[in-house]
Amino acid sequence: MKDKLLFQAALGLKAPWFVSDVELSTSEKRLDIFIDFERGARFPCPECQSMCQVHDTSERVWRHLNFFEYETYLHARVPRTSCPGHGVKQVELPWARPNSGFTLHIEAMVLAMSDEMSVAGIAGHLHIHEDSVWRILRHYVNEARKDIDLSDVDQIAVDEFAVRKGHRYVTFFYDLRGKRIIHIAEGKGKESFTSFVQATEGRLDPEKVKLVRMDLSPAFIAACKETFPNARMVFDHFHVIKLMNDAINKIRIEEARDNELLKKTKYLWLKNPENLEEWQEEKMSKLKDLDIKTAKAYQFKLALQRAWQLPRWTAKRYLKKWIAWAERSRMPEIEKLARTIRAHFDGIIESIRSKVTSGYAEGLNNKIRTAFRRAYGFKAKEYRDTMIYLVAGRLTLPTLN
Ligand SMILES: [Zn+2]
Repeated sequence: MKDKLLFQAALGLKAPWFVSDVELSTSEKRLDIFIDFERGARFPCPECQSMCQVHDTSERVWRHLNFFEYETYLHARVPRTSCPGHGVKQVELPWARPNSGFTLHIEAMVLAMSDEMSVAGIAGHLHIHEDSVWRILRHYVNEARKDIDLSDVDQIAVDEFAVRKGHRYVTFFYDLRGKRIIHIAEGKGKESFTSFVQATEGRLDPEKVKLVRMDLSPAFIAACKETFPNARMVFDHFHVIKLMNDAINKIRIEEARDNELLKKTKYLWLKNPENLEEWQEEKMSKLKDLDIKTAKAYQFKLALQRAWQLPRWTAKRYLKKWIAWAERSRMPEIEKLARTIRAHFDGIIESIRSKVTSGYAEGLNNKIRTAFRRAYGFKAKEYRDTMIYLVAGRLTLPTLN
């Protein structure tokens, strides 16, 4: 009899609920705890909380945290109340949420472990199926996301991310002040902005957004102007250099047709000089001073990167000079980039001025990589998003207490 009271206390059960029986099977390493309610007990209607008689009951089983190495299950007959106002409803249970086959204890443990472990790791530790871990995480992440406060969001960053080797894109919307991902949109460009604003269901005020850091792509720029009419657009170093690298690569591909030396040199031109390995550096020292277009374009890139190392006022003058120089380069790709930079001059200068805050991108990329690693093996989009929100969404999740 004593052990029943012990389990009752461990489960935190209060009247009318009590532990009616406990079965321990040492051969199966299994513990079954049976819960019942006192005869004649009344339960609150889940809609109006008025105490109602029990209409009927149904048998249910929940997986609970293991007691030592014993796989533990709770059993109970779950009553439905019959309320004059709301009809027949299943009562709320103190140990599990509706429609879950797991107790709140084990779910809270899953959430706590998700801080540091992969889904496979959690499943292995708790001896439950990986799909169950996913379903639990998804439920709590979705619930927590319903509650996030977006009313103060006034600075955001928008970043697209290629998945499946560039066959598909997802676009992340990042709250710069809150340092959290607030939306993941399928696709890129305009439709991702629309889906973002729709998903916030009026909790975000587009008029209030004063600053957007993003790609220098015409689709993003048009969508941003339309969606956030009061926002200044800021184009960070890595967004500008991405375009520069695209230009270099086009020039190199064209030139490599008649120049054997340029074959298989793509990454030498795209990497920063300080990141080259020794053999690459050696190869590069022979290439970069050749009288070829690719090498000239590369000089434009090195010169452009310097702008971010200069103080603001010098940077402004410097970037203007760079544009004038690039516009006379006689390389259509570089001239085109010069026009783009001229058209978005203020947004680029803004990024040079506020370089401190552009560190968000690196942190964000690391978090997304962590999320992909923890979601390893799961290709389903909703699982991927669940993990990203979990790692980078700064959500408030329920804890064991
Ligand atoms: Zn009712």
